Amino acid sequence: MKILLLGSGGREHALALKLKASPMPVELVSAPGSDALGELGACVPLDLEDARGVAAWCAANRPGLVIAGPELPLVAGVADAVRALGIPVFGHDAETARLEGSKAVAKAFMERHGIPCAASWTVTDQTEGEALIRAWPHGYPIVLKADGLAAGKGVVLAETEREALATFRVFMAGQFGDASRTVVFEEPLVGMELSLHVLVDVDADHAAFATLPACQDHKRIFEGDRGPNTGGMGAFGPIPFLRDEDVQRLRAVLVEPTVKGLQRDGLRARGVLFLGVMWTAAGPKLLEYNVRFGDPETQVLMQLLDEDLAALLLEVAEGRLVSRDLKLKPHTAITVVLAAEDYPEGAKKGVPISIAPSAVTVIHAGTRKQDGQWLTHGGRVLNLATSAPDLAAARAAIETALPQVQWPGMQVRHDIGLKALKHAEA
Ligand code: ATP
Repeated sequence: MKILLLGSGGREHALALKLKASPMPVELVSAPGSDALGELGACVPLDLEDARGVAAWCAANRPGLVIAGPELPLVAGVADAVRALGIPVFGHDAETARLEGSKAVAKAFMERHGIPCAASWTVTDQTEGEALIRAWPHGYPIVLKADGLAAGKGVVLAETEREALATFRVFMAGQFGDASRTVVFEEPLVGMELSLHVLVDVDADHAAFATLPACQDHKRIFEGDRGPNTGGMGAFGPIPFLRDEDVQRLRAVLVEPTVKGLQRDGLRARGVLFLGVMWTAAGPKLLEYNVRFGDPETQVLMQLLDEDLAALLLEVAEGRLVSRDLKLKPHTAITVVLAAEDYPEGAKKGVPISIAPSAVTVIHAGTRKQDGQWLTHGGRVLNLATSAPDLAAARAAIETALPQVQWPGMQVRHDIGLKALKHAEA
């Protein structure tokens, strides 16, 4: 089967490696792809935000399946345009993608369908927003969110009234263009964050879902969860201290009402929903919807999934998913991100990487190959991923493999999963 994979990062390389392991012969084409993806198939230089351009390529080349990696093509209507040609797409319609594309839309959806989440206020007026901050009775930090996509920079936890006012004014002045001229204020939630991925296949007369194991990401650049936020420095899953009844609760409280809500609202969903969850003292609450796989969570999930990924995603894309428990390896998986020297402020490019063979999976995120030599080419450069019977063994396997992959200035966290391990042992 010919598969068009949209994207170019670590998430897409992890998906591509798994697709190539499918028992069915897979001809992979990536757009725009990368040198690493180019070793698994062809790359075509498509503009992923140009729905008509992607659809024109599909009309001419007739892939059997299109898989969307990032959210931007979905928000831009790529899935709608390609599906209109009768080509199956693993990726949501543009209207469904607004659950990630607009935080105000997502909050209204959660509230309409009784999904537990932080109390919130959506504001489009300067005076109203400033008055809300001055009279804020919900405790600090005040959580301010730019409504639209802001590449991970649109959420600020303001510790003081002054900081909240300054942030709000910068948002309203158009820091992220129109994306920040609507601001969602939220009460602060305290608890443990986790990422829950669910394959969903919903339309007017069909509603099926299949949950993947809950994972935990590590957003800060430095060990001990210090330093600035990043796209994610490593993840593991499943979470060892999350019991079966906890997973059932996530399903009952967050997943099932979401699936029912999509159907009630007449939204078609054919892809993955990645729920950002805060497990508070009052139980799990939904922070956000993402309409695509997480990065680096995908690297973990692909280690655990014991199914033919190409067949599974095609089932969803063709509207044939049957709600079920997915086949999973009885393992814990981990991925550790190797980042550029100056990440997250920068992404120092062109530094030669030495990669010796190792027992773990090497996933490329921001690399380039020149004359047979891999070079750094992004902020998050590589991931090392593996699975083992438990988290301690998975962590140890990564530590053993780390000296095999190096470059001067490489940043890596050695504490991915460590807090959870200590918690589970306590
Ligand atoms: P962007 O839209 O800029 O890409 P995002 O989608 O990552 O941002 P969220 O996931 O909603 O935005 O929030 C980012 C982080 O902020 C969360 O992972 C969480 O740690 C924190 N956060 C969000 N909402 C709350 C809240 N109500 N209380 C406490 N922390 C929160």
